[in-house]
Amino acid sequence: MGLTAQSTGRRARAPDSVPLREPGTRLLALAGNPNVGKSTLFNALTNLHQHTGNWPGKTVACAQGEFGRKGTRWRVVDLPGTYSLLAHSAEEEVARDVLCFGGADAVVVVCDGTCLAHSLTLALQVAELCPRTVLCVNLLDEAAKKGIRLDLPALEDFLGIPVVGTSARSGRGLEPLLEAVDRVCAGEEAHPLVLPYPEEVERGMARILPALERYLPPSLPPRWAALRLLEGDRALCRGISQAAGREWTLAPALVRAVEAARKGLGSLPAHRLRDRIAASVLSYGEEACRRAVLSPGSHRRDRFWDRILTSRATGIPMMLLLLGVVLWLTIAGANGLSQLLAQGLGWIQNQLSLLLSWLNAPGWLHGALVEGVVQVVFWVVAVMLPPMAIFFPLFTLLEDLGYLPRVAFNLDHCFQRAHTCGKQALTMAMGFGCNAAGVVGCRIIDSPRERLIAILTNSFVPCNGRFPTLIALLALLTAGSTCSSLWGAVLLTGLLLLGVLLTFLASRLLSSTLLRGMPSSFALELPPYRRPQVGQVLVRSLLDRTVFVLGRAAAVAAPAGLLLWLLANLQLGGDSLLAYGVRLLDPVGRLLGMDGAILLAFVLAFPANELFLPVLMMIYLSAGSLAPVGDLSQLQPLLAAHGWTGVTVCSTLLFCLVHWPCSTTCLTIARETGSKRWTLLGILLPAGTGMLLCFLFAGAARLLGMA
Ligand code: GDP
Repeated sequence: MGLTAQSTGRRARAPDSVPLREPGTRLLALAGNPNVGKSTLFNALTNLHQHTGNWPGKTVACAQGEFGRKGTRWRVVDLPGTYSLLAHSAEEEVARDVLCFGGADAVVVVCDGTCLAHSLTLALQVAELCPRTVLCVNLLDEAAKKGIRLDLPALEDFLGIPVVGTSARSGRGLEPLLEAVDRVCAGEEAHPLVLPYPEEVERGMARILPALERYLPPSLPPRWAALRLLEGDRALCRGISQAAGREWTLAPALVRAVEAARKGLGSLPAHRLRDRIAASVLSYGEEACRRAVLSPGSHRRDRFWDRILTSRATGIPMMLLLLGVVLWLTIAGANGLSQLLAQGLGWIQNQLSLLLSWLNAPGWLHGALVEGVVQVVFWVVAVMLPPMAIFFPLFTLLEDLGYLPRVAFNLDHCFQRAHTCGKQALTMAMGFGCNAAGVVGCRIIDSPRERLIAILTNSFVPCNGRFPTLIALLALLTAGSTCSSLWGAVLLTGLLLLGVLLTFLASRLLSSTLLRGMPSSFALELPPYRRPQVGQVLVRSLLDRTVFVLGRAAAVAAPAGLLLWLLANLQLGGDSLLAYGVRLLDPVGRLLGMDGAILLAFVLAFPANELFLPVLMMIYLSAGSLAPVGDLSQLQPLLAAHGWTGVTVCSTLLFCLVHWPCSTTCLTIARETGSKRWTLLGILLPAGTGMLLCFLFAGAARLLGMA
């Protein structure tokens, strides 16, 4: 299959080969503004789990899936959300080229029923370009809650294309939508929308149309192409020609016709003409809305919450409070859950041990299996699962509620002061989930300079693989104190804020040295607040994030155990390789307030951050033995036995917060920047910062006689 926007280079650019229908498969493209429910519709149709979230810009590449219906296989392409097809952002180019040359049998353009006027402009542009378009007015349940009443048959009458109302989240309206798709595919209601333009524009188009017929790629509607030529937007025409694979716009007869048409427009400059064309589309959309929206409803509740969550006085305090509450719930819940899990898993381990004894298994097998692999995997589960199982659903709830763009809005000022773009707050927030995803998410930033800064600084916030380690280590610091969970939450909030602060500082450093420049302005749409679907959020965040991260950690724990066993048993100069590595790194580790084993664990956890704790435990195991599966509180004696002090915990926390990105993130940086030099900087910048922080902290602790 051709559509490969995911794997393209720095930005989501037009796929090299737009999707071709496989024999016997029909192609359905989903287009629309960001955040109108395209991915939700995509998931409902294909039963896939494309990431959804209540903020614009999360879909920067095309997702694909399939479904079958009435004996036909459909391939569905979820296009990146765009506001227009006529500008030049990467997402718009991808969407436009797929619509122009992707060979879609039908296009569903999704609109937001709670603000129809807003999303109709793109819908009209798509319907003008694609003859087989169905307009899907989504979020009807939200619209009803806000008291918005819509007359969709009137909209259909006015536009002359099929209009179907849906609530994609509950699956309502999907069947009528697919029936409308069947109808347009059968050619029953298939024709491009003919929008009326001012008289002089119509005259200009009429001059171009006859010359166009010979040269026009068959997939482009003549009126649409004539308008683009009349506007004389060279970049757009070049892009369309490139995607078409031939320079049709340069055919001499066509060039002459376009020149004649332009002359006919008199002294009207090109940008004025573009404005007039855009204004015509806008006013047609407004007229459509006047007919379709019977009652505009009320947005009072959203405004009330925005006053609290984004105002100067309360925006940032509310943000800190929310973060603190999420972290407190995570830590408090994780302790109890961890104890329960440890008991359950300890029992299973005992049963396994009894079973092997009953089977008369040799001692080495029992040791390697029960005390090696099983014990480590169970430790990982008992320590890592609880915080992840609580944090990710809470984070996803906030995301679904529509809170993330408000965070970007609140932090915009700080990013401006760092001479970067406020959208970086969104990519930073994505980094809390996964830094590699955060780096890919930087495609939403238009300025190449700001995008690069956002990419290079994304690893300054901890990803989900580092969270459990941070929580486990903080539990060591707060153990025994009254309200330990509360203290843990306060400390973790402080640590995350330190990560955010380091992001600002590193961004400012880059924008005043290697990547000099001023911040660009940007428009960030604040989506309406939406009630999250709690059940689905739980399932999604548990399956997509928790189980994935845990599975990776557990899966790698076993081969890592083997590697460590080899390292512990292969000799070099009378020493095991492991002991050799630990001893080699020990001086640097001590200088940074840690020890050689901790530093080696960070190095060996390069494939995935979540490996740090299990690898560290295994290194200590090879030098002694791992305690039976325990909960978070039992980590303390284990580490204390290996000489950990308060300073060790703090240094390890700091280094866990900022050090080199994991291998996946490094590869993603390399792919997104297309440069070895920037990738190296993306590694050295956080690694150097982490080392400097730890060095200063450990030095200060030594000076104060604490270490
Ligand atoms: P996309 O950017 O267009 O792909 O939008 P998403 O599919 O990610 O949806 C944006 C947000 O709207 C998510 O929080 C969805 O859960 C929510 N959403 C999507 N469709 C509906 C719907 O029909 N009703 C409600 N209430 N929420 C929806």
